[in-house]
Amino acid sequence: MREPLIATIGLGANLGDARQAVQDAMQAIATFEHCQLHAASPLYRSAPVDSSGPDYFNAVMQISTRLSAPDLLDRLHQLERGAGRERPYRNAPRTLDLDILLYGAARIDSPRLSVPHPRMRQRAFVLRPLADIAPALVSAQELQAVADQAIEKVCIW
Ligand code: ATP
Ligand code: CA
Ligand code: CA
Repeated sequence: MREPLIATIGLGANLGDARQAVQDAMQAIATFEHCQLHAASPLYRSAPVDSSGPDYFNAVMQISTRLSAPDLLDRLHQLERGAGRERPYRNAPRTLDLDILLYGAARIDSPRLSVPHPRMRQRAFVLRPLADIAPALVSAQELQAVADQAIEKVCIW
């Protein structure tokens, strides 16, 4: 069996009961087989970036997992489908979006999986919650570079 490593997952939603969807997804991921919750960020609310519709609810979590990255992605997609995720066009509003931001120190470049997530460092809704749970992974300069993006901490859960 593979050694556990820390996977970092970004959660977001802006359609339906988006806040509940993010919270439910976090709980579901924490109980995935071969996974244990390592850290959960506070909940954030952010204005859409390159997207439209209502504000987003966002969070970042880390799990210790023995799942391979593709297996983890499959399970995340299952959860998205369960939440009614549709992809009518790129960056469309969504009921639930679950991205693998980091998978240990791995670099993955396959047709269905790019890790580290190629756009994570441009997004305040990733960097702010990530800095809360893993400050060593985010620099002050990176936070400064996204300081113009509208985002607020909503609650600690
Ligand atoms: P963005 O990737 O810019 O955050 P998005 O989350 O809206 O955009 P989706 O429509 O959810 O994009 O995903 C499109 C495809 O991206 C998925 O089918 C998946 O295979 C692929 N993908 C590549 N790398 C990753 C990753 N690190 N995490 C999740 N999906 C990924
Ligand atoms: Ca995304
Ligand atoms: Ca996604």
